[in-house]
Amino acid sequence: MIEQKINEFFGDAESTGFGTGWWSGILSAFFGSLSFGGVLCLHFPQLLSSPELRLHYPIHTMRVLIQCLIVGAILFGIISSILRKKKILALTGMLLAIAATALGGSSVQINDTLHDGPAIGLDWFLLDLFLMALIYVPLERLWPQYPKQGTFRNEWTLDVVYFMSTHLPLQILSFLVLLPATQATKYLGVPVLQEFIARMPWFLQFFLAVVVADIAEYFIHLALHKVPFLWRFHAVHHSSKALDWIAGSRSHFVDDTLVRGFILAPLMLGFSQSIIMAYLIFVTIHATWTHCNFGPHAKWLEKYLVMPRYHHWHHTSQNEGIDKNFAIHFPWIDKIFGTYYYPDKWPERYGLDGEEISPNFFRQTIEPFTKKKKNALKI
Ligand SMILES: [Zn+2]
Ligand SMILES: [Zn+2]
Repeated sequence: MIEQKINEFFGDAESTGFGTGWWSGILSAFFGSLSFGGVLCLHFPQLLSSPELRLHYPIHTMRVLIQCLIVGAILFGIISSILRKKKILALTGMLLAIAATALGGSSVQINDTLHDGPAIGLDWFLLDLFLMALIYVPLERLWPQYPKQGTFRNEWTLDVVYFMSTHLPLQILSFLVLLPATQATKYLGVPVLQEFIARMPWFLQFFLAVVVADIAEYFIHLALHKVPFLWRFHAVHHSSKALDWIAGSRSHFVDDTLVRGFILAPLMLGFSQSIIMAYLIFVTIHATWTHCNFGPHAKWLEKYLVMPRYHHWHHTSQNEGIDKNFAIHFPWIDKIFGTYYYPDKWPERYGLDGEEISPNFFRQTIEPFTKKKKNALKI
């Protein structure tokens, strides 16, 4: 298996605690890869950067970021190679940073006139991966619910592939595909409703949008669990045996498209484009957060907002939690519909209940379409 090979190639038997050169090695390799990818985007912007993002880039800030990543990769690489016996992580990071510099670094000029058209969207993948890892990895390392799980737990490479698959392919599946979709508000909108909502204070409009979106999500999510044909697709999301921020991105594209479509359709009836955009940013951050391996509680908030432990109960394979907690933002929506389950502890097991699905990305993508009905039924 590729994952085993990666672990063997980069890993060793030494401790991974602070001061052992492990994290500096990881950071060096991570920053090196990001800076190398960033420089590639500067060289081939037409092919690699997302047309929707190009117009909005503070290009100077991006160049400074690439420069910082190069310097960071070298510095962390030096620290790691001093502290750790196995130097492969440090070397990888430093080599990528040197390659990025040799290719012109952050000062590569963009001379072509860019036009819309198919693009791979490597820029969005790198930026989102960087931001999400920056927010969630420290939280999970500092206050984990399951400290033994680690950042590079079983099947982490599979979830990176899922993260990539929703970001890279020509934006067909990424959340950016929804940017042009929000333009449809012009055609779908009901003017009386739009005017009524637009008169409310911004925050109230936003709150109302989250409520509408979560009620819509509740019903499509319920259908994904109860309709055997739809469950085949959603089972992929539930196949994670350990949850963390990146496990949240394990989702079949049919599942993703259905959920997003169901959420967006009612929003488009009455909400402005800026509110829908704000919601899309909020749902990306909040949905990722609810999958986190993060232990601390905030009892006063848990009644009103879905916290990691709440969504973890949705992912359990223990009987008492099956088909519970469908809401992704507000627990009280489950209370209203009778699917609320929130004991004062964490689940002990995650994943599918007695069902097996392939651990391979391509098979997970194809099999829901081809599976025979009896295998698809959830027990
Ligand atoms: Zn579910
Ligand atoms: Zn989930």
